[in-house]
Amino acid sequence: LPVLAVVGRPNVGKSTLVNRIIGRREAVVEDVPGVTRDRISYEAEWNTKRFMVQDTGGWEPTAKGLQQSITRQAEHAMRTADAILVVVDATVGSTTTDEAVARILRRSKAPVILVANKVDNAKLDSDVAELWNLGLGEPFPISATHGRGTADLLDTVIGILPEKPRDPNQFTGGPRRIALVGKPNVGKSSLLNKLTGDERSVVHDVAGTTVDPVDSLVELGGKVWRFVDTAGLRKRVITASGAEYYASLRTRSAIESAEVVVVLIDSSQPITEQDLRIITMVEETGRAMVIAFNKWDLVDEDRRLQLDKEIDRDLVRIQWAQRVNISAHTGRAVQKLVPVMDTALNSWDTRVPTGRLNTWLRETISATPPPMRGGRLPRVLFATQATTRPPTFVLFTTGFLEAGYRRFLERKLRESFGFEGSPVRVNVRVRE
Ligand code: GDP
Repeated sequence: LPVLAVVGRPNVGKSTLVNRIIGRREAVVEDVPGVTRDRISYEAEWNTKRFMVQDTGGWEPTAKGLQQSITRQAEHAMRTADAILVVVDATVGSTTTDEAVARILRRSKAPVILVANKVDNAKLDSDVAELWNLGLGEPFPISATHGRGTADLLDTVIGILPEKPRDPNQFTGGPRRIALVGKPNVGKSSLLNKLTGDERSVVHDVAGTTVDPVDSLVELGGKVWRFVDTAGLRKRVITASGAEYYASLRTRSAIESAEVVVVLIDSSQPITEQDLRIITMVEETGRAMVIAFNKWDLVDEDRRLQLDKEIDRDLVRIQWAQRVNISAHTGRAVQKLVPVMDTALNSWDTRVPTGRLNTWLRETISATPPPMRGGRLPRVLFATQATTRPPTFVLFTTGFLEAGYRRFLERKLRESFGFEGSPVRVNVRVRE
């Protein structure tokens, strides 16, 4: 289950909040004596979604002092949790310890929500606003003892928790996974042969990795990569009927197994519906993508001009994907695929820390506010990056945001943070 960590100074109400979240079903499921006695995890459920709550409330200050023990708590949460609630006491305001914790959590790769607790009545609203200064986005006012705001908070938590916990081995464990896809005869097996042509580049084992026999390990640019489902490229599987359907299933499964997908397009021929369907499949699956225009050796000046027009017409939506003009036949620019795949994977892995994201959000929105809806201006309260691979952002708003404005924000996100080669998702959650 995904893990929600709750951090903060003593007496800010962390335990009360944890009890609220778990509905006082204090089922301790992890309490390993001597090792992690200072962290207890509970199982919780909200709107049918289950997750673990990691309570750091019992953490005693070490001899080195309170600040250090809380700093450690925050760092631990950053390493292990899928989302973090940092709780501050709104009646006290931000203390130097809160600021130290915020400084750490601003670098967090997991999304962070700033919770302003003890807001038992609306009189405290101005105190809450002051907590923006922690640089963790909009403070989320709640009263853990009265339950005020906790349902909204949990809705938000559910919105940003990934389905599955971070699995450090899922993708980072071995060589990065590449799929070569494209319609039949576009040159996939020729490209694979070119890349592995030099026998020394074919690797037979990598420490700590079990390699599926249908995959190939290939050393390129000083690194080992795993090309998925290359058996299908090496040995032609042609069934008399339904060959196309079969090929399309195979393409889909290769895309799903990959982290970065190289879509081959035959540049000597007009771009086809089938090419575009494959690209859409990659987009929808949310994989990093590189577009390789193959058979470039056959492209003359006229064809090149025509291709530019086809690209403008058909590929505007995916301008974020880098294009490389290659020839699997002559070997032209084939090695250039490696840095381009690297860039795409880096973008795919990127996480924008919550503090930076919200600074960006405030600046972007004040320069170009969202259009009015029903005579009202929807307010975008804050943003957090829920996941990477691909980068997925959640915007919390007070009203519906038009698709056009969402696309505008996505474009601005790309302008500010890059993400070349990776899809980016922007989801909106309306908070009542
Ligand atoms: P696959 O079905 O995508 O694996 O395509 P193949 O690799 O089998 O290639 C299909 C045909 O296109 C073969 O006859 C190749 O020799 C040819 N081909 C592949 N890449 C190139 C290229 O860059 N230039 C030229 N001129 N021919 C190519």
